[in-house]
Amino acid sequence: MKISKRLGSVKPSSTLAVTAKVLELRAAGREVIGFAAGEPDFDTWPHVCQAAIDAIARGDFRYTAVGGTPELKDAIRLKLERDNGLSYEASAVMASCGGKQALYNAMQSLLDDGDEVVIPGPYWVSYADLVVLAGGVPKVVMASEENGFKLTAAELDAAIGPRTKLVIVNSPSNPTGATYSEAELVELAGVLARKDCCVLTDDVYEFIRYDGDRPRHLLQIDPDLRERTLVVNSVSKTYAMTGWRIGYAAGPPALIKAMATIQGQSTSNPTAIAQAAAAAALSGPQDELGPMVVEFRKRRDFVCERLNAIDGLSTTLPGGAFYVFVNVDGALARAGARDGDELALRLLDGAGVGLVGGNDFGSTRHVRISYATSMELLERGLDSIEGWLAGL
Ligand code: PLP
Repeated sequence: MKISKRLGSVKPSSTLAVTAKVLELRAAGREVIGFAAGEPDFDTWPHVCQAAIDAIARGDFRYTAVGGTPELKDAIRLKLERDNGLSYEASAVMASCGGKQALYNAMQSLLDDGDEVVIPGPYWVSYADLVVLAGGVPKVVMASEENGFKLTAAELDAAIGPRTKLVIVNSPSNPTGATYSEAELVELAGVLARKDCCVLTDDVYEFIRYDGDRPRHLLQIDPDLRERTLVVNSVSKTYAMTGWRIGYAAGPPALIKAMATIQGQSTSNPTAIAQAAAAAALSGPQDELGPMVVEFRKRRDFVCERLNAIDGLSTTLPGGAFYVFVNVDGALARAGARDGDELALRLLDGAGVGLVGGNDFGSTRHVRISYATSMELLERGLDSIEGWLAGL
């Protein structure tokens, strides 16, 4: 069977691929510690699970409106007002099957063949492929490690050209955990205000941050950007709900309408029962979030300290999310690895630790460690990495 040419330039997600390899090795009886998965190891909150149970008891078994139930859309609007100071009409928000589908819908709705999308790197693996799938051209602009993996205003300014249709802003970032401060966002907003491209803010890690107060949203900083900005978010990371597959977007109604058309012709509505749970997560009490972030912070500090003490590895302290983008420059030659991807494979075989090489995130000199796993496993996995590298 001949697969379409379009798919030839799209890669399968490398994070999902490593996770699958870890599961495969485990099924074959090997003990493998997984540092690859991009999901909290916490359980979904009890009142959120109860909302899904109630939805089943009520018999919420039918299709809903493509962009979500009125209850979920109200909860999304409430959340955006409460947490981000942004008020949207019902026609300006929609729910999707995870933030990933909102991003897919957005790329399909916005891009014509050859349109460029500026992606600050290191970047989340799926951005570039979602752009390519929509016929667009990813323009990755690498932020320097010295600047905490954050783009400067001048770098953003230089990256936006006449063919730029869209700029992605992801803070806190996957894979680096880089978080822009309010002052830095003000500078980026200043550049965006002078250009006429669209903007997409991917806020899925907005609450998982360790560096003090959350800054105001880019759209609070410059409300004039609203008419050309799409806000994408998800319940996956904030509420430990990755498997429920609910994301959402808010933006200009014409764009939301186009995105709903894409969704209506692909998946239709997200699962009705998961929508009920997501509505409860977004509109109910938020107090379980704080302890989760405190725990992530403890793990971040532990993991960075341990990694920095290992010869050949170094880290930049992440301000948010639950990843460390580890510089492995000093270990590659010793491990006989050409790049971070090869080192990740060696570590899987040699140390029994599954992590993701940096190539698909835009760097051959890094690997990504997810610390969304218990302190006990982090300790054992880091002991194993240290021991394996020391024995080379
Ligand atoms: N955006 C970023 C930066 C992510 O890391 C992810 C998931 O890993 C997503 C969006 C999509 O998450 P979901 O589809 O689970 O909402």
